[in-house]
Amino acid sequence: MNSRVLNGANEVIARRPASEAADRRANRSLVGGVNSPVRAFGAVGGRPVAVARADGVSITDIDGNRYIDFVGSWGPAIVGHANPRVLEAVHDAVDRGLSFGAPCEAETELAETILGALPGHDRIRFVSSGTEACMSAVRLARAATGRDLIVKFAGNYHGHADAMLVEAGSGAITHGVPTSPGINKELARSTLTCRYNDAEDVSETLRAHEGRVAAVLVEPVAGNMGLVAPADGFLEALRDLCSRHGTLLIFDEVMTGFRVAWGGYQAICGIQPDLTCLGKVIGGGLPAAAYAGRRELMDLVAPVGPVYQAGTLSGNPVAMAAGRATLEICQQPGFYESLSRASAEIVRHIRESAARTGHAVQTDSIGGMIGVSFAQRPPRNFEDAKACDHDKFGRFFHAALDRGVWLPPSGYEAWFVSAAHGPEEVSQACSALDAAFGALG
Ligand code: PLP
Repeated sequence: MNSRVLNGANEVIARRPASEAADRRANRSLVGGVNSPVRAFGAVGGRPVAVARADGVSITDIDGNRYIDFVGSWGPAIVGHANPRVLEAVHDAVDRGLSFGAPCEAETELAETILGALPGHDRIRFVSSGTEACMSAVRLARAATGRDLIVKFAGNYHGHADAMLVEAGSGAITHGVPTSPGINKELARSTLTCRYNDAEDVSETLRAHEGRVAAVLVEPVAGNMGLVAPADGFLEALRDLCSRHGTLLIFDEVMTGFRVAWGGYQAICGIQPDLTCLGKVIGGGLPAAAYAGRRELMDLVAPVGPVYQAGTLSGNPVAMAAGRATLEICQQPGFYESLSRASAEIVRHIRESAARTGHAVQTDSIGGMIGVSFAQRPPRNFEDAKACDHDKFGRFFHAALDRGVWLPPSGYEAWFVSAAHGPEEVSQACSALDAAFGALG
């Protein structure tokens, strides 16, 4: 298939007949034509675009259109798609077998690399998805404390395990209301929801349920309601409150881990969680995730301790090889500095384009994560994120897509930048985004 790079300023994709046909066909066998809901474009309208290949900074659809990608497979592709060094490590691993169901050295090698970046954590358990990592960390916290309740924040996403799929109610001590049918209501009631960036809400909740909260689970930078940075002192207050109430602090760094800095956001903020959940980047594009903590906590997990947790494909040798090769690239001097520079440059261009075209846009970046919201003020919590102009984001999304820029199909998602976003790609993407702002009218 021949692919072409669009000149975003003045060339627009009018139709994608092959993608449309593929979507019609997919809908006859796959639920909604997809295997993960956000891929269906429900938040932005239109038909999903079927991908033929991904390489470096670009995605090529099955009609042959090439796009500059800011989704990066929802985070893992931090060194660019199909990075030759990662592919070489994967090929080498594949040649030695796909899965052993027994220990292999690649697991220990990746464990050592990750633990070397997480001071205060000395044991890790690999699983296959971020959902599993968060679910298992919560089970461990309940076992370690002998308590049942957990606190999470409205607008934070921790995968789709029942206890975590609980929406916000308003007020500090609102008992959980399930976000999805099918969730056991008794279980949902064990999840308490607080406002993000509101330490007072957490303080009241812990006081109201004194001695009953096993863990506070938080995205240290929220990336599932756009990009919402922690307010000054918020994470420090969580650490302090958890320590005072005998509650474990769990950082869900599935998204931020090795994406915002070597070692994740905890390396930036200097706060030590009791447990950390990881995923995305540590699998280098293959299914791998993990939870980690200090030895006395992690040793409660089977086979050393009684907390059961297992996985047929956990620590899969091919995924471990992809993760290790990816982290080796991330560990090179200057990696995160240049990733952050590329993100900041994109943010600067977006601000200029929004100002030039008269659209109120809030945008910021941390490491390789960018947030873009159509709003008058920077969102601080889920209420603010919901109040952003999501219809306008939907129109912007399509205007960008038609000009060759592949954005996440929802205003609630962060954008991801990779090492493959060099100055030329950034400049090309930004001129297409500028044209997309212009097209909003
Ligand atoms: N935690 C966070 C912060 C996430 O962003 C995600 C997924 O986007 C998850 C957990 C769940 O990870 P997975 O989709 O691998 O189950």
